Amino acid sequence: MSFLDEILKYPTDEVLSRIEAKSGADVEQALGLERLRVDDFMALLSPAAAPYLETMAGKAHRLTRQRFGNNILMYAPLYLSNLCTNGCLYCGFNATNKVPRQTLAFDEIEREAQVLYDRGFRHILLVTGEAPHAVNNDYLAEAAQRIRHLFSSIAIEVYPMEESGYRQMVEAGVDGLTIYQETYDRTLYADMHPFGRKRDYSFRLLAPERGGAAGLRRIGIGALLGLGHFRVESFYTGLHALYLSRHYWRSHLSVSFPRMRPAEGGFAPLHPVSDREFVQLICALRLLLPDAGLVMSTRESATLRDNLLPLGITQMSAGSCTSPGGYAGPEESTRQFNIDDDRSAAEVEEMIRSKGYEAVWKDWDRAFLDRATPYATSDAAL
Ligand code: SF4
Repeated sequence: MSFLDEILKYPTDEVLSRIEAKSGADVEQALGLERLRVDDFMALLSPAAAPYLETMAGKAHRLTRQRFGNNILMYAPLYLSNLCTNGCLYCGFNATNKVPRQTLAFDEIEREAQVLYDRGFRHILLVTGEAPHAVNNDYLAEAAQRIRHLFSSIAIEVYPMEESGYRQMVEAGVDGLTIYQETYDRTLYADMHPFGRKRDYSFRLLAPERGGAAGLRRIGIGALLGLGHFRVESFYTGLHALYLSRHYWRSHLSVSFPRMRPAEGGFAPLHPVSDREFVQLICALRLLLPDAGLVMSTRESATLRDNLLPLGITQMSAGSCTSPGGYAGPEESTRQFNIDDDRSAAEVEEMIRSKGYEAVWKDWDRAFLDRATPYATSDAAL
């Protein structure tokens, strides 16, 4: 039994019609519950929940304060390579895009890491495309070993690996895995990934489970908003998060909600997500997953990030560069996508403080994970 079996119980068309059929009474019932069931979550994602957004936001805020206090974990991505053999239609690193390509040598990685360390970061996310001829497990393990003395947490956002690959990462000092399914809709997934290893929907879908089995203590998932219908994608993301938290409870789970940004290739979102819809899905996910980290990256504008902070966000990137080598030197290669919030890490920290929160640079996650029951998901939740 894996999440592949679980998701098959919820065909895409059926999910959308069930969500769209929810009423105001369903939303009110969901808002009165401590723990949401699948149908309650659907109600909060439905058009009928739109008039209840303020109530949802208030509840999401209170729940987050209760579970996380006023802490916002700071992290930064470190792009190691933009080589990629995949054809993801929406990505600037797509193999068919004629853009400058670069894979950092180990001394360049050390320089990039030192810049991020000097800016205060102790949590970093190593990012690459999928190009096995240039970037493989040994390269990533070596990169992690070279910089692990600088950071309390190193996560990877790279191609999906076998469980043995994730074990190799753990041994090298990697403790976290972020992997987005992009879209949970299998048909759309095939359309968006016309060639390359990434075409394998199931192998990607089950990567978080392999990572959990390998002992990675932090797992991050999400869907790329703009591909499928946001109500359906958010539903599957929540379902996936519940599944992982129940079966891999030793790993702390986080959910991201990356909205598509302009990128090389000019792909336009198929289902744009408005700010209001964006707020709705964040609140719904928080109410479903009281203990999950919710991650907000620099894809979003400074104004929106500032305003969304109190809704349930627990982790933020800042001062991000989405091309390899762009921290220590001039950006010479193409960005994966254009960021929207280009404030420095210090400016974001100041904003966080001004909102009554505290920017946390060191590994507070470790203490959080030491709680006796990080996930108290009951069987009734599904
Ligand atoms: S999304 Fe990832 S796998 Fe797809 S083209 Fe971009 S870098 Fe490659």
